[in-house]
Amino acid sequence: MLSIPAFRNLYALFLLAFALTAAHAQQAAAPLPRVLILATGGTIAGTGATSTTTVGYTAATVGVDNLIKSVPELQKIARVGGEQVFQIASENMGNAEWLTLAKRVNALLAQPDVDGIVITHGTDTLEETAYFLDLVVKSRKPVVLVGAMRPSTALSADGPINLYNAVLTAGSQEAVGKGVLVVMNDQINAARDVTKTNTTTPDTFKATELGVLGYVVGNRPHFYRQSTRKHTVDTEFDVSQLQSLPDVQIAYTYANVGPTAVDAFVAAGARGIVHAGVGDGSLPNRVKPALVNARAKGIVVVRASRVGQGIVARNGEANDDQLDFVVADNLNPQKARILLMLALTKTSDTRVIQRMFYTY
Ligand code: ASP
Repeated sequence: MLSIPAFRNLYALFLLAFALTAAHAQQAAAPLPRVLILATGGTIAGTGATSTTTVGYTAATVGVDNLIKSVPELQKIARVGGEQVFQIASENMGNAEWLTLAKRVNALLAQPDVDGIVITHGTDTLEETAYFLDLVVKSRKPVVLVGAMRPSTALSADGPINLYNAVLTAGSQEAVGKGVLVVMNDQINAARDVTKTNTTTPDTFKATELGVLGYVVGNRPHFYRQSTRKHTVDTEFDVSQLQSLPDVQIAYTYANVGPTAVDAFVAAGARGIVHAGVGDGSLPNRVKPALVNARAKGIVVVRASRVGQGIVARNGEANDDQLDFVVADNLNPQKARILLMLALTKTSDTRVIQRMFYTY
């Protein structure tokens, strides 16, 4: 006969087995996440003449349906749908395309049955589109940008595994509320921090000094940190009613540079100029008067740096208070341009714009 404690143990075991079976059944019944793939072109959709053609191929030739078909494993991790938003190489991405894309992403994420979005994109301007969306997407649901450095026809093409990892991440709970992400080469990076660092290698996307947010390994994303800067639902930017963005240009500086580019931007009616200065955003004597003149005409001047790392210190290499300039913090010039465009949709007050550069 069983003693009372033995009976209790047996009963506890029975309960545990029942709970485990119920949990397992529930897990098995949980539907796969619904992830939409918005295709825009790029090398991930590119084709070359031979399997060893890794340069000199044609970007943006494979349509979204074939992209999805080429990775049948996607069906096991998500209920994927595809939409061809553009079919372009990303050097041709522009403000108009960004507005179209952002509005589409916001509309799709507002649908309760959509869990996340993957955007396939050329790598050349991928970081710019990612940061633009990071500032204007109004949802906490995951948005993941993905590209490839080798065309789909190449030996060891990186597109299929990158797409698989991007869909995994976009369908995951872990990615919710992390802002727009870039997933390539098994790494997860924040849109704000990541940049293309190499012209041809598959490990090109890096958040150099700030580091990756995590990895996609063993069929799931692993996050270790997140950006401290505000993004998506926590920004003040709203593109829903915008038909265009203010004209903001970048003037690149180098030894012996003159005022020609800045003067031309002023004459062409730019509303903002990002100065990609040397070092800590230094202003050469040959350029400074042109920028002062631009500011006198009401153009907002942002001091950034071509270095690619580090902060441009306010009132460091130039007296920004006196010149009424804004500093880019640690945004690279191409991302500073995006934030300045969005800032100019709200205000032309340089104090407010400076606050935005320290917020986003
Ligand atoms: N030029 C291509 C593009 O950005 C390069 C790539 O996708 O890797 O569309």
